[in-house]
Amino acid sequence: MKAILTDITKCIGCTQCVTACKMINNLPPDKPREWQKNDGLSSRNWTSVLRKQDFFVRKQCRHCNEPACAAACPVGALHKTELGAVVYDSNKCLGCRYCMMACPYGIPRYDWDSAVPYIRKCILCYDNLISGKIDQPACTKNCPTGATIFGERDFLIQEAHRRISENPNLYSDIIYGETEVGGTNVLYITSKDCPLDFLLYYNNRIEKGLNLVGEPDFDSPYPQLTKWAMSSVPFAFVGMGAIMSGIYWVVKRRQKIEKEKKEKENEEDRQN
Ligand code: SF4
Ligand code: SF4
Ligand code: SF4
Repeated sequence: MKAILTDITKCIGCTQCVTACKMINNLPPDKPREWQKNDGLSSRNWTSVLRKQDFFVRKQCRHCNEPACAAACPVGALHKTELGAVVYDSNKCLGCRYCMMACPYGIPRYDWDSAVPYIRKCILCYDNLISGKIDQPACTKNCPTGATIFGERDFLIQEAHRRISENPNLYSDIIYGETEVGGTNVLYITSKDCPLDFLLYYNNRIEKGLNLVGEPDFDSPYPQLTKWAMSSVPFAFVGMGAIMSGIYWVVKRRQKIEKEKKEKENEEDRQN
């Protein structure tokens, strides 16, 4: 299984990983949304860099071995691949946002700008890796200091142990993601002066002295928003028939848009 190891002691906060991710995934600039200001992640930003005192901490989906997002999804729109990536199938998604509630790191974000909204998050460059178009994710490839690297998970864990044992005064002896939440495919090692517990969703909300590095982001949900979103679908109190009708409408609408998109592409192919 493939994984990413990010070494906080080597990160200079240049945000080239953020730019590279946006480019390879054709992600447009963020739209200002003051009420959603948060940690830099959004439907248009799948990785971000946070500043904590003198350190820079890259944030992205952790690609959990046992992904809570996938477990919470009622239609299997998210799943763990053999490569290690947790990927998403927009054709199956109902837009219920249970994955957003379930993720222990607060990663999945809702695409508020789309007529038929989807969930967005880092997919470990899965499609491009599987097709052989690239041999490592754009973020790791473009990191100028080697602060974030790609490889076999077992190898990266060995490498993390090596760095820690060779420099015990610098490094904390924790490999974040080795066992955390059942193990993840995005691992971190860090300085003793910069514990990373704040990356866990709820801790993140109360962490002081945490700032976003680079382009300001206004497009990611507060927990309050998530609460609001979820409380707007209270299965216990609203008629199930109405909900199912809504879901049916969303699915149908999505299928219609996909169909029209395909027909348009076929028409363009015929004309070329
Ligand atoms: S970090 Fe969150 S979104 Fe990513 S795989 Fe884990 S549970 Fe899913
Ligand atoms: S692995 Fe790919 S999708 Fe994920 S943050 Fe890096 S460049 Fe973006
Ligand atoms: S590209 Fe590397 S050094 Fe620059 S912010 Fe990203 S992880 Fe840090």
